[in-house]
Amino acid sequence: MEPLARSPLFRNLPPLLLLLLPLAGSGGRTVAARGSFWHITDLHWDPSYTVTDNPGLVCASTGTRPAPNAGRFGHYHCDSPWDLIDSSINAMKVILPEPDFIIWTGDDTPHVPNEQLGEEAVLSIVGNLTRLLQLAFPKTKVYSALGNHDYHPKSQMPPGQSTMYEQMAQLWQDWLEPESQRTFQSGGYYSEQLLNKTGYRVLVLNTNLYYDQNKLTENVADPAGQFEWMDNILTRAAQKNEKAYIVGHVPPGFFEKKRSKPWFRPDFNRRYLELVQKHHAVIYGQFFGHHHTDSFRMFYDLQGNPISTIFITPGVTPWKTTLPGVEDGANNPGIRVFNYDPSTLLVEDSVTYYLNLTYANAMRERWEKEYRLCEAFQVPDASPSSMHAVLERLAGTGCDLQKYYEFNSVSYDLSACDADCRVDHICAIREVDFERYEQCLLREGTAATPLAFIPLLIPTALTIYCAAL
Ligand SMILES: [Zn+2]
Ligand SMILES: [Zn+2]
Repeated sequence: MEPLARSPLFRNLPPLLLLLLPLAGSGGRTVAARGSFWHITDLHWDPSYTVTDNPGLVCASTGTRPAPNAGRFGHYHCDSPWDLIDSSINAMKVILPEPDFIIWTGDDTPHVPNEQLGEEAVLSIVGNLTRLLQLAFPKTKVYSALGNHDYHPKSQMPPGQSTMYEQMAQLWQDWLEPESQRTFQSGGYYSEQLLNKTGYRVLVLNTNLYYDQNKLTENVADPAGQFEWMDNILTRAAQKNEKAYIVGHVPPGFFEKKRSKPWFRPDFNRRYLELVQKHHAVIYGQFFGHHHTDSFRMFYDLQGNPISTIFITPGVTPWKTTLPGVEDGANNPGIRVFNYDPSTLLVEDSVTYYLNLTYANAMRERWEKEYRLCEAFQVPDASPSSMHAVLERLAGTGCDLQKYYEFNSVSYDLSACDADCRVDHICAIREVDFERYEQCLLREGTAATPLAFIPLLIPTALTIYCAAL
């Protein structure tokens, strides 16, 4: 998929025009009726990042990996330098300066051992990024969720009151209503009327409480009472005919880049899934981060009808994951605009923008449109039934899986998605439930459709064939 700005026609336009081009072309829809908002996530600022000729001294987040030829906007082995973060917020301002609101799903600090951070450093990093966003978007409401890296020690969110929750609530006081301040201080989550409008609601969750790395919630049935609270809020929302968005950092289900790798503890995963199945009629979209990749997750009712979708937005940090078993898990920095219908909260479309890090370091800073969802996958909107249709296309024998796979790493990994890769991605998207996911692996792994093995046999040929379309 050739980004518009890369085609020869537009190659010589100045950077500002390149940024504006993707806004043209509304896919034949009525532009006036559309609302739009930004979703940004996983900024992971590494304040130690320095451009130097010594590959061992570029950034603390690289660990023991060398970072040769590091440039101003970052390195795939490192978390974000300030210039990259500044660049991404500036790109937001140029591309869509007046969003209806912003969703920011956390993970602000670098991937370094706890000993190199501490409460003060974590709060200072979150505070700096908060101020940067406030300066860029002084009048815009930001719905901000905690990431597992926005705590000290990392991922150890307590299931009750904590001074770090209180200090974080202080940093975000301009964005939080009084009742939100109260629930945030006692569990890191909150709910408000979306944009203060009757009939519309947002729930910002602290799903770090369900993360299997969190030792403090291991034997707690309902950490910080969040499930009960969520059940109550959504029950009341249904009674009041409200429509709701759910926002969080760590998503339920599995990581698509590593087979059988979930994030939630099993009971928490089940409970979350049950809540979505119970309340799907009021949930119009779920927005998460944490993966740093671009993907989505489907929810179905007991009859197999698609009822809800989690949209996983890619990260700003290009940091190559050190998770064992993931091969070359880096990404280009990405940011995303969602289009929605303000009267129904239906998610209509999304446009992902990205910075080709190699190009930016070698030439200049250039944020480009990567793709528009409805255009790339030929669906009318991003409703659960349309996203189910996207999944069916990916599971089919055409080039959609390869296209999705390249978007998955924000056009960083352009290699062919082979038969194993296909199973990993299809089953992670299709099944949030642990048992059904394992069944999917068996089913898809043994589904010996000849075409499913073409990528395995001739990966290069497939990439060339699909790229030529
Ligand atoms: Zn992250
Ligand atoms: Zn995370």
